[in-house]
Amino acid sequence: MSPVRLSDRVAAIRESPTLAVKMEAARLRAEGVDVIDFGPGEPDFATPGPICRAAAAAMAAGHTHYTDTAGIIELRTAIARTYTERYGVEIEPSEVLVGCGAKNLLFLLNLALFQPGDKVILFAPYWVSFPEQIRLAGATPVVIDTTPETGFQPTARQLEAVCDGDTRAVILNSPCNPTGATIPAAERERLVSVAARRGLLLISDECYEAFVYGDEDRASFLPWRDRLRDRLVVVNSFSKTYAMTGWRVGYLIGPGPVLKAVKKLQGHDATHTASIAQWAAVAALQEAADSVTEMREEFRRRRDLFVEAIGEIPGISCHPPTGAFYSFPNVEGLYRGLGVTSTREVAARLIRDARIATVPGEAFGRGGYIRFSYALSRQRLQEGIDRLRRLVESL
Ligand code: PLP
Repeated sequence: MSPVRLSDRVAAIRESPTLAVKMEAARLRAEGVDVIDFGPGEPDFATPGPICRAAAAAMAAGHTHYTDTAGIIELRTAIARTYTERYGVEIEPSEVLVGCGAKNLLFLLNLALFQPGDKVILFAPYWVSFPEQIRLAGATPVVIDTTPETGFQPTARQLEAVCDGDTRAVILNSPCNPTGATIPAAERERLVSVAARRGLLLISDECYEAFVYGDEDRASFLPWRDRLRDRLVVVNSFSKTYAMTGWRVGYLIGPGPVLKAVKKLQGHDATHTASIAQWAAVAALQEAADSVTEMREEFRRRRDLFVEAIGEIPGISCHPPTGAFYSFPNVEGLYRGLGVTSTREVAARLIRDARIATVPGEAFGRGGYIRFSYALSRQRLQEGIDRLRRLVESL
């Protein structure tokens, strides 16, 4: 029998490389190998107690049936209120749509907005799913490189330079996965000006918004909503902020027509995210602020520890991240000693010879660098860096 024919659509995309690392680390652990995993794209903290208790209470109360496709009104109201209080920008519950995590909502957003012939701008290094989702919608990702010299910051000047008549949107991600870079307010303002002048949609993925370590507290584009009128869509999630990756709750804040289109798609897709998880998310907003602060402060300590220790290893240089829980050091100085020519090979050697799992920069559109997540305890973090140092010293 001939093999099942798969669609061209799926042939054009690749498997998620970050999930592939997760699987490899899990495989080795199952064999009894003590792997130090710098791969995780999720906080290593437990979901805070009040959130778990709210989920149990929701089940007991019988909130176990279909909900509104846009999400329960209690959650949309709580999200709108949180943003209104945080940024002083009036948000209505009708401007909020809840779905199955930011990843799925971004996927639906791409399907709702883009089609063949459209160009969508991305800055590299980028989160792995952005280009694939654009391609799945039939549109073309246009990738602009950022550099460590400018702290991996996307700039308005770069954005302006690549816009043409087919450019429909720009996707920004601050704090950034994988670099941990955040876009300062002055540059956000300039990016908004270019988007407004060029009539671009600005899609702002703010999933790491709660984890910012610089002078600014938060890094949202929402304060510029009025400048962009109906051209700003903010994407956020409970996954990272509340250590709720498995619960699958994300949301969009955006203009009515865009949300209506995404809702239509969601109505034929997942319908909505789990009712129980939605009630838990309400409790997250109302009762878990202290846990978020604790997580942020712990990530800050680990960031400081990591950046200082990695900077002492010859052949590795690291631009200090200002947000999220990733760092993205340059490891080209190790190529010669390891006898390799790509970061894919460096990562393979790190897991084989030092038993540390990392994600090679090629996955994020930038060879020469490796992503280290610091979502692991300080003790494991130190042990992982020691293993790396021993390997480098042995070369
Ligand atoms: N956006 C970015 C930049 C991410 O890093 C991730 C997860 O790694 C997501 C979106 C997806 O998050 P969620 O769990 O809400 O789907």
